[in-house]
Amino acid sequence: MEIIKTIAEMREYRRSIQAIVGFVPTMGALHEGHLSLMRRSESESECSIVSIFVNPTQFGANEDFDKYPRTLEKDLELCEKEGVDAVFIPNVNEMYKNDEITLNPPKKMGYIFEGFDRPTHFSGVLQVVLKLFNIIRPHKAFFGQKDAQQVLILQKMVEQFFLNMELIPCPIVRDSDGLALSSRNIYLSDQERRIALRIPQTIELIESCIQEGETNAKKLEKKAFENLHIEGLEPIYASFVNHCLEPIEKIVWDQSIFLITARVGKTRLLDNLWI
Ligand code: AMP
Repeated sequence: MEIIKTIAEMREYRRSIQAIVGFVPTMGALHEGHLSLMRRSESESECSIVSIFVNPTQFGANEDFDKYPRTLEKDLELCEKEGVDAVFIPNVNEMYKNDEITLNPPKKMGYIFEGFDRPTHFSGVLQVVLKLFNIIRPHKAFFGQKDAQQVLILQKMVEQFFLNMELIPCPIVRDSDGLALSSRNIYLSDQERRIALRIPQTIELIESCIQEGETNAKKLEKKAFENLHIEGLEPIYASFVNHCLEPIEKIVWDQSIFLITARVGKTRLLDNLWI
């Protein structure tokens, strides 16, 4: 496995690859969710490249950039075990100069849900992902459906900037207790984790109502909110949307997503259900 730390070396490596390149961008602190993206990349491409970069521009001023878990040695071992071909670990000073061009997400998609409380977040995501795509020039890039809004906004970027590649959303991986895996789960105390389980339980509840034939989104949102109302859990939203993140009245198969975000203590947790 190649470990590549500069943009020039990454470009040189990329030039030497004729095969179909799959790319998995990450911020490290790798878990099974990330590994599932790597496996998918390996199954759908001939050369898999993973990046590990804790991107400062997607963190707000009072967010956890400094505290964000960094476990590089273990991450590299996991990548090696998964059979990744190359890991790109760029340096922040090479990635960013002063006074940069920035990208803004679409107004209707970028400033609601996660973007409401984190208005600069998706700008930072677009900026870093476009840089990484331009350096790595993947044929396919693999992203988790866990971050539904991120995937949908990035798909718009690929479409609207005519990027010659495919972006592939991949299913959520959960822990054995149901909680969606996230690098931020380590912030949870045991007690907070028990409270957090109400989130996947609510997803399951909504899923079973849909399986029983319920299609009224507002009714289900109300049910979800009621179910999320327990001590220690602060629901931020529980909403049905279409793939443009617009609210919907009626659930349509293959076109609807149920989004939940809730806070437990200081930790913001995301979960969702792609219907
Ligand atoms: P991050 O390191 O948090 O930036 O995540 C890197 C990629 O892994 C993103 O595309 C995430 O959506 C994806 N990811 C994170 N958690 C999960 C999960 N539990 N299941 C599937 N993909 C995930």
